[in-house]
Amino acid sequence: MSASELKDFSRLAIHTITTKAWSLEECVDRFSGAGVKGITVWRQALEGRNDVAIGAAGARIRGAGLEVVSLCRGGFFPGKTEADRTKALDDNRRAIAEAAALGAPLIVLVCGAVPGIPLEEARKHIADGIAALLPEASAAKVKLSIEPLHPMYAGDRSAVNTLGQANDIVEQLRSPWVGVAADVFHLWWDPALEAEIARCAKLGALDAFHICDWLSPMADMLNDRGLMGEGCIPIRKIRGWVEAAGFKGFNEVEIFSQRHWARDPKDFLKDITAAYLKHS
Ligand code: ZN
Repeated sequence: MSASELKDFSRLAIHTITTKAWSLEECVDRFSGAGVKGITVWRQALEGRNDVAIGAAGARIRGAGLEVVSLCRGGFFPGKTEADRTKALDDNRRAIAEAAALGAPLIVLVCGAVPGIPLEEARKHIADGIAALLPEASAAKVKLSIEPLHPMYAGDRSAVNTLGQANDIVEQLRSPWVGVAADVFHLWWDPALEAEIARCAKLGALDAFHICDWLSPMADMLNDRGLMGEGCIPIRKIRGWVEAAGFKGFNEVEIFSQRHWARDPKDFLKDITAAYLKHS
C-alpha cells in the first residue's frame, strides 16, 4: 500500500475563510482535489448570490464529493437598542434562509458582545435572540450552534466564553435546534473542558469541532492563528475527548492568519493536509 492510500481525510473539512483568497468555486475544486471531504462556507463567499444561486453552489459542492458541514456565521445578538437587536435577528433569519438554500445543516453563531453592555445582560440578549429564531430554524431544519469564544473576545465579539456557558444556554432553551460548535482555539485553556465536552454530548448538542493552533506570542488577537502543530494546543488530546464523548463529525480547519493568507493558498493547502495527518 502506498503512503497516499494510508492518508485518512474522511473527516477533514476546511473553512472557506482559511483560504480566503479563493472563490467558493476554487475552494471546492482545490479542497476536493486534495481529498478533503467537508467544507464550511463563510457567508462572504456567498455574497451577491440569491437563494437559487446559493442552491446551485450547494449542488456543486456535493457534486465535487464534499459535504456542506456548516454555514459561518450568524449571531451578534446583543444591542443597546431594540432596533439594533431586531436588525441582528433579521440578519440571522437571512442566514437561516442561506443555510437552507445551501443545504447546510447548521449555522455557527458568534454570539456577540457590545462594549458598555454588561456580560450578563448580553447573555440574556443572546438567549432571547436564539429563542426568537427557533421557529425559523426548525421550519428550515437548520441548527443554531453556539460557538463559545476565548475570553479575550468578551469585550466585543462574544459574551459566551466557555463551553460551560454555552451548555447552560442549550439547557435553558431545550430545543433540538440549538447546539454548540467547539473550537480548540477558544477552549483549550479551560480546566473544565473535558467534563463540559462530555456534558455537551450528553445534551445532544456537540455539533461541530474546529481546529487550528494557538501561537505564543500572538501578533494579532484575531488574525494570527496557527496551523496545527505550530502552537501549544493539545489538539489530539482534545479530539480524543470529543470522540470519546461520541462525536463523529468533521475536524474543521479554521485558520485566520495574515501570515498564511499572504502565501500561495495552494502551498498553504498542502501544509494543512500534512499538518492534519501529523498533529490532529
Ligand atoms: Zn471556530
